[in-house]
Amino acid sequence: MAKDVIVALDYPSAKEAYKFLDKFDQSIYTKVGMELFYKEGPEVVREIKKMGHRVFLDLKFHDIPNTVLGAVQSVLPLEVDMVNLHIAAGKKAIGEARSLLDQASSKTILLGVTILTSMEEEDLRDLGIQDSLKETVKRYGKLGLDAGLHGLVCSAQEVEDLKKDLGDFIAVTPGIRPAQYGQDDQKRIMTPRKAAIAGSDYIVVGRPIRTAQDPVKAYCAIREEFLKEEV
Ligand code: C5P
Repeated sequence: MAKDVIVALDYPSAKEAYKFLDKFDQSIYTKVGMELFYKEGPEVVREIKKMGHRVFLDLKFHDIPNTVLGAVQSVLPLEVDMVNLHIAAGKKAIGEARSLLDQASSKTILLGVTILTSMEEEDLRDLGIQDSLKETVKRYGKLGLDAGLHGLVCSAQEVEDLKKDLGDFIAVTPGIRPAQYGQDDQKRIMTPRKAAIAGSDYIVVGRPIRTAQDPVKAYCAIREEFLKEEV
């Protein structure tokens, strides 16, 4: 299965995102999230693809099945590499989204968000969820994969157990922090190397690359650490 580093383009404008991408000679895997998409619309995705980069459109759809279906339909022509929804939207929304992609012979990978990597046990208690974080992620993951997801967005800390329990799937893991870097608002973090060993297929990295003095150098170092073969 392909493995790669996905760079989160969490910028408030297309101009800033393009300025960042101009630093790169090579084609990279990018993530366009709510901040950039809601400001600039689909055009920013078309432009980034035109530059030769891949795009994970991270809009985390979470609504009634009919609206989720409409959202997937709306982004279908963009032919992004990955799109996602919240598994909390339920089986029906997931199943219908997957059917729509299949009917359109789309190559877009459909991912489901289990529990955000910024959340801890205490946040689940606040929501009235009494199960442990691990059990909750597993339950969400199973429901999502059974309903038709190609893969899951989860913490790298959960990947190993999830693959053991649920079988193989495309694991996309944010909350990645190089050893010498702080954690920002992320809670369930892991280094690129540990994430690779745990079974992450794609790691999502934002601030450790964007805020680096030399973002290309930071990207290359993280990618090398993630992709290097076991010795
Ligand atoms: O800057 P940082 O590396 O923390 O960026 C992580 C990116 O991954 C952000 O764009 C965030 O929206 C996204 N993400 C996440 N946790 C999830 C799903 C997506 O942090 N469960």
